[in-house]
Amino acid sequence: MALITQRPKGTNDVVPAQAYKWHTVEKLVADTAEQYGFKEIRVPTFEDTGLFVRSVGETTDVVQKEMYSVTASGDAKFTLRPEGTAGTMRAMLENGIMNEGFPQKAYYILSCFRHEKPQAGRLREFHQFGCEMVGTASPRADAEVISLAKNVLDRLGLKNIQLNINSIGCPTCRAEYHKALKDYFSARQEELCDTCKGRLEKNPMRILDCKSPICQGIAKDAPLILDYLCGDCREHFEQLQKNLSVMGIEFEINPKIVRGLDYYTRTVFEFITTDIGAQGTVCGGGRYDGLIEQLGGQKTPALGFGMGLERLILTMEKQGCDFMEPKTCDLYIASMGETAADKAMALTMALRDEGYFVEYDLVGRGIKPQMKYADKIGAKFVLVLGDNEIDTGEAKLKNMATGEQTDIKLDNSFIDSFSNSLVCEMFKGLDDEMAGLLGADK
Ligand code: ATP
Ligand code: MG
Repeated sequence: MALITQRPKGTNDVVPAQAYKWHTVEKLVADTAEQYGFKEIRVPTFEDTGLFVRSVGETTDVVQKEMYSVTASGDAKFTLRPEGTAGTMRAMLENGIMNEGFPQKAYYILSCFRHEKPQAGRLREFHQFGCEMVGTASPRADAEVISLAKNVLDRLGLKNIQLNINSIGCPTCRAEYHKALKDYFSARQEELCDTCKGRLEKNPMRILDCKSPICQGIAKDAPLILDYLCGDCREHFEQLQKNLSVMGIEFEINPKIVRGLDYYTRTVFEFITTDIGAQGTVCGGGRYDGLIEQLGGQKTPALGFGMGLERLILTMEKQGCDFMEPKTCDLYIASMGETAADKAMALTMALRDEGYFVEYDLVGRGIKPQMKYADKIGAKFVLVLGDNEIDTGEAKLKNMATGEQTDIKLDNSFIDSFSNSLVCEMFKGLDDEMAGLLGADK
């Protein structure tokens, strides 16, 4: 059979059997963010193109090469969000959240769109968990935001994740640094890629982030921003390091990190794994003290990070981390004949009202395929109903793990009896687990 179409390159389907992995991550990141006092924000999937051009930056790869822009019948030009910070800041300004006292703390879980070359860990539609903290310039805030990201990675059970930090200074120190970079790259101008030739005048720092191997080779020996930091930025960076040490967070200083988005100032950081190949940055973030003013708000310091959920899950799979067990069916009610099928439906409704996970036959199959289906979905118990059971008001409840069958009355006592059987099974499972643990100890 030929499908008329397939999913677009660089996109993913999460099939139902895999959804529990996403639920594990989404729940854990949200719970951890809330514990730090962050509240969820939801913003549109598309925004005015100008928002991204102005915040992410005209000379970035994201804006120059990767935006999915859409025009809706006529004048307005919109772009599918390539990241979450710009929209979040726009929403905070538009909804007056900046006037409600500082710091404001928001988190989000959203899809992002970038027209990149798809490969392992690099998609065209991907998902980010992000956090933004607004209204503080204190280096304690930088450490707090980094510790939140680290906490999430630790709680997911990830190992061997390295934290790299750097400071890329403020506009004051950057002026000197840009001059030094321009001098350095001008000498080899002819060798740069066409995009970088254009960046040389406008924003030479972007050349450091170019993906072209030739530009990367040239950039290797370029001057380092850390040597150009002004006194205030240097002090801020030192304080951040002190705070991280107080928190017991290990880090490396990597003077080469500049990050791919223009709005960053001072602190930038990345959490990196070597377990999933070349695309190993699971989290990237930093400070963006100039962005809010650039978007028309008052000058307000802020910072945040974005974590790629596909890369997180990929790393968890590679490292054999635990995911939250998906819920399985407590009871499957198999039935033969119309009257029994009606009874199955009625019992199911009653049990669901009590909070149980119950299914019954919706296809009209015989008992045998129904039993097979119950086994396949991992039902803990099966109840078999036929004419005989309806007549006698009693049926067999089969424990699928042990094969054990018990008689159960189909009257008002049914829910209590079933609930007892389920509890016994749960305790038995715990006993087995304990016995296993004790056995392993010996
Ligand atoms: P990279 O250097 O890997 O391209 P980036 O600097 O472009 O990352 P950010 O814009 O900071 O990334 O986004 C934050 C996080 O989102 C990244 O650390 C990564 O985990 C994830 N991410 C970014 N782009 C993609 C993509 N195309 N596919 C999957 N995940 C991505
Ligand atoms: Mg990128």
